[in-house]
Amino acid sequence: TVEIHDVHKWYGTHRVLDGVDLTVRPGEVTVILGPSGSGKSTLLRVVNHLERPEIGHVSINGELIGVRRQGERLKELSERAILTQRSRIGFVFQNFNLFPHLTVLDNVAAAPVATGKLGKPEAVELARELLGRVGLADRTGAYPRQLSGGQQQRVAIARALALRPGVILFDEPTSALDPELVGEVLAVIKDLATSRTTLLIVTHEIGFAREIADRVVFIDGGRIIEQGPPSEVLDKPRHERTRDFLSKVL
Ligand code: ATP
Ligand code: MG
Repeated sequence: TVEIHDVHKWYGTHRVLDGVDLTVRPGEVTVILGPSGSGKSTLLRVVNHLERPEIGHVSINGELIGVRRQGERLKELSERAILTQRSRIGFVFQNFNLFPHLTVLDNVAAAPVATGKLGKPEAVELARELLGRVGLADRTGAYPRQLSGGQQQRVAIARALALRPGVILFDEPTSALDPELVGEVLAVIKDLATSRTTLLIVTHEIGFAREIADRVVFIDGGRIIEQGPPSEVLDKPRHERTRDFLSKVL
């Protein structure tokens, strides 16, 4: 379970997250929608402790992310402890962020080895299995620059899976892709959703959200405006701002 509790984040005087509460249960797929600048990426980055909230906290399976309690106060964890926590959270970025100097196989196998979770032979075996799952069994020896955007993103998903994370965060995983490559990446994410992987996905693909989301969360101005099953938020939005947003992206 991912629990986001009353998270506030601001840059200077600019309030970017304004009291976000959100719970993602194991096996649940939550899709976050919202206009540009509404704080979606910042929220994911707070969950992964790439950003620290000014107020509030995030916990995963009861463990606080980035901080620990000391009496009434919260104390920052060590870099090392934060890295360990981060290794339990998968993150798939808009721009793939693969290691350009590593082969596809090594991109996927590197993290379990670096974090000491697996020895090299086991990591390579797991990487082959995961690359098969995302349809890239025949490209293990290629370098990222030799792949299409859709293939690179599928490698990035296999890499996220390699750490067997409790949750995978996706930040607009298809928005940098040519239209004809979007489907192959969505198919892989759909496969994860079907197998009850816990997912938190920022996307503008409304049709896809309707298909896979257990819950849709609409954010505007750093606040959750409404949330619920797709049949409510997407088909019968209660708020003017949600309706306005949907009329622009649909
Ligand atoms: P998009 O759909 O365009 O990706 P978003 O909903 O992901 O938008 P964020 O990237 O979370 O939005 O940004 C929210 C606001 O915070 C924006 O106004 C942005 O300019 C601001 N912001 C984000 N990161 C920083 C930063 N490091 N320093 C200052 N302001 C920032
Ligand atoms: Mg963003």
